[in-house]
Amino acid sequence: MQIDTSSPVMITGATGYVAGWIVKDLLEAGVTVHAPVRDPDNADKLQYLNRIAESAPGAIKYFKADLLSEGSYADAMAGCSIVFHTASPFRIEVADPQKELVDPALLGTRNVLEEANRTPSVQRVVLTSSCVAIYGDSADLEKTPNGVFTEEIWNTTSSIDHQPYSFSKTVAEKEAWKMAGAQDRWKLVVINPSLVLGPGINPHGTSGSFDLVRQLGDGALKAGVPDLRIGAVDVRDLSRAHIAAAYLSDAEGRHIVSGHNTTFLEMAGTLLGKYGKDYPIPRRTMPKWLIWLVAPMVSKGMTRKIVSRNIGHPWTADNSKSKRALGVTYRPLKESMTDFFQQMIDSGAFREG
Ligand code: NAP
Repeated sequence: MQIDTSSPVMITGATGYVAGWIVKDLLEAGVTVHAPVRDPDNADKLQYLNRIAESAPGAIKYFKADLLSEGSYADAMAGCSIVFHTASPFRIEVADPQKELVDPALLGTRNVLEEANRTPSVQRVVLTSSCVAIYGDSADLEKTPNGVFTEEIWNTTSSIDHQPYSFSKTVAEKEAWKMAGAQDRWKLVVINPSLVLGPGINPHGTSGSFDLVRQLGDGALKAGVPDLRIGAVDVRDLSRAHIAAAYLSDAEGRHIVSGHNTTFLEMAGTLLGKYGKDYPIPRRTMPKWLIWLVAPMVSKGMTRKIVSRNIGHPWTADNSKSKRALGVTYRPLKESMTDFFQQMIDSGAFREG
């Protein structure tokens, strides 16, 4: 694959977990990266990207922008051939799902793509959607034609009241396809990752991925994990998928980017050999009835409907298009988990206080 370094590219959410590796790979390929961020003066947050840029052939330029501020991406996008739109909050625990999830996802996508419509240099937009724009609950698998989630399928079961994060990603991706279809200068290519794992460029990342894996080592799930079956992908493999979606001329449509059909218990199990003696890694699943009983008390985001429709249900996605069309290769789950967990230990995530 030929990476064109002759024109800059723009990436939203550059400070985030997923985008960090995309920026790194672009900088190392010699690309000039325009990074619109909410606070370009936050040296603390930008230090990780700056360190990479110092020794890479590419360059990074920061701009001030916000998903909810119309027109704020104009300066950053000017002259760019490719736009990566990754910015969107990934959080399960929210007080106001409309304000905290749906507005930034939907209005943000509209804002960025309206800017693409006004920017003649833009030829391609790569959108980071999610597997949760394909399914809402694991129970949705029962309604799929062959018992497998594919790119043909859309999430029809999430709403503002039930799985609002999944709803936010679904409405945002739908809006992107609608806007892409209403013009013919830029092409939309969509990446639909499953749960992202692996070390972050910023070891103190705030993505939901960090919360989840931290809980496997901080004792929160010592008594057992929910029997949740999910997909998982390494953040480094996911970056390669985004780069291929941007630079392969034939890339088109949606792509499930998910290395493994797995379970929380299997994810925890990959850590037992190396860390099981020193950390309270979960070794069993909790009974579904018990989770059903306590869930609403333990977490606002874990309703009984979510428990009923997800725990103990199978989950299988077909990642063959990502391999065939984007040439993605997936590293072993154990490598992603170990590298991620070790980074958390090294950065003090499990220290008291
Ligand atoms: P993250 O680390 O929390 O990154 C989110 C990024 O969005 C941050 O850079 C954040 O900027 C930016 N952002 C949030 N609200 C914004 C606003 N109002 N204006 C401008 N920027 C805003 O999360 P992530 O895990 O990397 O997620 C990145 C993308 O991957 C999202 O689209 C997410 O839905 C998707 N995804 C993630 C996973 C996963 O397991 N992590 C799985 C599937 C899909 P600040 O630094 O300023 O907060």
